[in-house]
Amino acid sequence: MRQVLNATGVVVHTNLGRAPLSAAAIEALRTAAGPTDVELDLATGRRGPRGAAALAALAAAVPDAAGVHVVNNGAAALALVACALASSADGPGREIVVARGELVEIGDGFRIPDLLESVGARLREVGTTNRVRLSDYAAAVGERTAFVLKVHPSNFRVEGFTSAVPVADLAGLARESDVPVVVDIGSGLLAPHPRLPDEPDAATCLAAGADLVTASGDKLLGGPQCGLLLGRGDLVESLRRHPFARALRVDKLTLAALEATLTGPTPPVPEALAQRPEELLTRARRIAQGLNAHAGADVAEAVCSAGAVGGGGAPGVTIQSAAVALPAGLADPLRSAETPVVGRVHDGRLLLDLLAVPESEDEALTEAVRRLIADA
Ligand SMILES: *Cc1c(COP(=O)(O)O)cnc(C)c1O
Repeated sequence: MRQVLNATGVVVHTNLGRAPLSAAAIEALRTAAGPTDVELDLATGRRGPRGAAALAALAAAVPDAAGVHVVNNGAAALALVACALASSADGPGREIVVARGELVEIGDGFRIPDLLESVGARLREVGTTNRVRLSDYAAAVGERTAFVLKVHPSNFRVEGFTSAVPVADLAGLARESDVPVVVDIGSGLLAPHPRLPDEPDAATCLAAGADLVTASGDKLLGGPQCGLLLGRGDLVESLRRHPFARALRVDKLTLAALEATLTGPTPPVPEALAQRPEELLTRARRIAQGLNAHAGADVAEAVCSAGAVGGGGAPGVTIQSAAVALPAGLADPLRSAETPVVGRVHDGRLLLDLLAVPESEDEALTEAVRRLIADA
């Protein structure tokens, strides 16, 4: 694997490895690479709970979660819940009640409904592609129900004649029927984000009465690849002790990076989402001027652009950004540069969007283009 500069304008780029880690998380990886206290209580010298510091940091970040657990990724979190609560291991699989419009294909051909069925659970689909009502759920919940599942459509939007049921209403129904409500929020926001008002978050879902929330660690949270499980203490404990949990156990490096992500300075993903477009434009102008001065011609122009969150969530939301526009012919050679720069071609020009480029990389990005211009 090689380092790449993400000038695509997509903050959480799946093909570029989703969230880049914070400097604190990278430092934590270095430390954790050697012997660590990952499962040792240094005070007593006895075995301690694995990754206690990372779990404590997660619990502190979401005070409404009585229990927290971390597995390999978001899909693993969901698989563990389905396996522990709805699998067919001891008899016919129990039913997961889920809206038809929430049967999401995650990417690379993997689908949440297939994942749930692969551990022996049965799906009880309710509603239609575009609409589902509380009465649909009420009619489906019964003796065979293992849990009610709400999945955030994190990579598509249905517009027009639509309706979905809020977590609070599902929680009310589930309490009456004594079945848990599980919410897969996907993107891993722990609290509401002011710029992404439609993106669900763990704290709000739990406050609304969700029994369990599952999420990815390497999307909007900006941490390492992992799956977060947050919610009712007894449920999380039963998941943690389930035999399958061992097969989904995270590495000490993941725990270290997650802890630093949660306790350290703002990681790159939330940092990128907090940037001001004027400042991005100022940087784009500075880079363009430098390139034009070097070339002795107008090859580069600073332009306003439209960035996106990407695979991390918030589908359809554009984020005001700025880019350096260059001839489209530079796209291929820049991808093959010593430090590859990946931009996007728009309207016949190559845009090097600065939304996901930390300011500290401006010089490296400029240098990569400068070399190509010199070669040309
Ligand atoms: C991304 C996502 C997943 C899968 O998470 P991974 O961490 O990629 O395994 C599951 N559900 C939703 C809603 C997602 O957005």
